[in-house]
Amino acid sequence: MPFIVTDSCKGVKDRACMDECPVSCIYDSDEEDMVYIDPDQCIDCSMCEPVCPVNAIFSDAFIPKELEEYIEINKKKSKQIQNEGI
Ligand code: SF4
Ligand code: SF4
Repeated sequence: MPFIVTDSCKGVKDRACMDECPVSCIYDSDEEDMVYIDPDQCIDCSMCEPVCPVNAIFSDAFIPKELEEYIEINKKKSKQIQNEGI
């Protein structure tokens, strides 16, 4: 079950989670106001979750109902950023 970044990241985006992630599966773009996790690359280690200053990161098994849309958004946006980087 991958981890998911949600809307509290917006406007903060300090990239602390990116520094922690051992597989570099958290993606940022100048075009975006938050970062996104690629669910196919996330190894579910949970190291990103406690370093987020605004508690924006959840396991998709425990994500609050009102933030469930971010499961799909992380998948779509992380892939989009990677494709744009090629
Ligand atoms: S759970 Fe681990 S692998 Fe997944 S995004 Fe967080 S730090 Fe990276
Ligand atoms: S640590 Fe939290 S606020 Fe910072 S970039 Fe990651 S998800 Fe966004």
